[in-house]
Formats: sequence, C-alpha cells, structure tokens
Amino acid sequence: MPEGKIVKALSGFYYVKTDDNLYQCRGRGLLRKNKINPLVGDHVVFEKSNPGEGYITEVKKRKNELVRPPIANIDQAVIVVSATQPDFSTLLLDRFLVLIESKGIDPVVFITKMDTINPEQQDVINQFKTDYEQIGYTVQTLSTKEPEKLFDVINQFKDKISVIAGQSGVGKSSMLNAINPLLKLETNEISESLGRGKHTTRHVELIEINGGLVADTPGFSSLEFSEIELEELPDCFPEMSELKSECKFRGCMHNKEPKCAVKLAVKANEIPAYRYEHYLQFFEEIHDRKPRY
Ligand code: GDP
Ligand code: ZN
Repeated sequence: MPEGKIVKALSGFYYVKTDDNLYQCRGRGLLRKNKINPLVGDHVVFEKSNPGEGYITEVKKRKNELVRPPIANIDQAVIVVSATQPDFSTLLLDRFLVLIESKGIDPVVFITKMDTINPEQQDVINQFKTDYEQIGYTVQTLSTKEPEKLFDVINQFKDKISVIAGQSGVGKSSMLNAINPLLKLETNEISESLGRGKHTTRHVELIEINGGLVADTPGFSSLEFSEIELEELPDCFPEMSELKSECKFRGCMHNKEPKCAVKLAVKANEIPAYRYEHYLQFFEEIHDRKPRY
C-alpha cells in the first residue's frame, strides 16, 4: 500500500504527499475507533480510492509531536530572534531553547536584522553566536537585505520538517517573504494544488522550502515551563548535561551540591556565567511552581 506524509489537514481531510503526487485522504473508521488523530507531519499508509483520493489506514510511530501547532515528526525548531527591535536577549533565547530541548526537538537559531546594528553591536552579537556554537547549536545571522545570508537560511531547511518559533516582530514573515523569490520555484505543484488562499477553518500547513517542509504557523507561543519537570531541566542545557557524569553526586542538579562539575566549569569560564544564571532562574521558576491539578 502507498505511503506518504501529511502536509496539510483541513476540514476532516488529510493531504498526503507521496514522491510524485498529492492525495486527498480521509481517516479510516479504524483510526477513529482507536482514537488516532492523524497530524500534519505524520508518515501514513493509505489506500487509494478515486484518482487523487484515499483513506489513511495507518499512522506510523511518531518521533515527537507538538500541540500548538499540531505537527508530528518535527526535525528542528528554528528560533528566530532579532539583533534589535526587539533587543537580543540571551534570557529569552535560553527560554526558547529549554522549551524546545524538553520536547526532544533540535533547535537552530536565526538572528535577524543584522543590517540595523553598527559594527560594535555586531561584534557583541557574534560573540554570543560563538558561545552558542560552542554548545553545539547552529546559529545563523541574517538580514532580509543580504541575499547571500538568505541562501544559508534556505539551506537550513533542506530535507527537514521545521517549526519556526519567535516573538512577534523579530522578522519571521519578512524572512520567509525574502527567501521566496530566491527559491525560484517553477510551479510548485504542491502549493498550487493545495491553493494558498484564505481558509475559514484554522489549519496547519507545511510549506515546501528546498526539499524541506516548514509549518506556516509559528510554534512555542507559550513560554511557560508548565510541562517541564525539575529533573528534566539539566538535560535541557547540553553543555551541562554532558558534564553530569563528572559531578560527585549522581542526579546532581548543579545547584547546592558540592563538587559539581558544572559549577567548576562556570568558574573556569568554560560555561558562560549567563547560561548558568538562566539555568538557576529557570530552576527556581519550576521549583516554585504551584502543583498542577
Ligand atoms: P514577525 O512578526 O516575526 O513575522 O516580524 P515581521 O516579519 O513582521 O517583521 C517586523 C518588522 O521588522 C517589519 O517592519 C520588518 O520590515 C522588519 N524587519 C524584519 N527583518 C528585517 C531585516 O532583516 N532588516 C530590517 N532592517 N528590518 C527587518
Ligand atoms: Zn553538578
């Protein structure tokens, strides 16, 4: 039976993309009975009915899923922050990173509006970029005014399912609009047949960029840590997580414990002080959270 990926869900229909076609599918009663709700991003098996139509019979195991926007199998979350307006903030960036790490999704960081700051300010941003790259994150600086950088942006989307996250006003839609003409899509059959007009129903759609698929709705709009347990927090900071076996105590929370490898690394400037301060701040926030009922 044919298999494909759901690229759009709308009014009870799932649009399944295969290597060469797009099928408008319904969920089989079987799925409904088993309370399986297919999501955009799902890898599915379907049965063809009429030409271009079918029934989904099976949803393959998901590697992750988000509620808002409802998407499965996300390969990366692109965190968009701006150099100015709103000002660059490592605290906000770390908050996004922790939320994304906690969902088991790989983060990538884009820093926009680089054309609006002077060379000294650029040096400051580039130093932060280096800090985050040392942790292992991919960081891409860009401006809608610099096409060369935009090609690097396009490459970040290649062959992956991405969700974009970021405050309003950081330049998410400007970036997507600026890369559109660079893609020089002849007629992109998928977007054509899906029709990108106005829809009355709330829906999620994956837009094709460079062989990758990008959610048209931003994710991580809530920056609350309400779903993160305290024990999970150390692993949301990769540079701390990788030191945990060197801490004296197993399960060290890198807080009040003696002989903590993370605290030593902060003292030795191997971990930036601001990252550790944010860790402690998030720690307190989760620790003091009222129990959820
Ligand atoms: P969104 O809310 O994240 O989608 O942000 P927008 O794309 O609406 O951008 C907010 C504002 O920032 C708009 O006035 C854009 O013109 C401006 N903007 C976005 N990216 C850039 C950039 O790279 N350079 C400059 N100079 N302005 C930008
Ligand atoms: Zn420790």
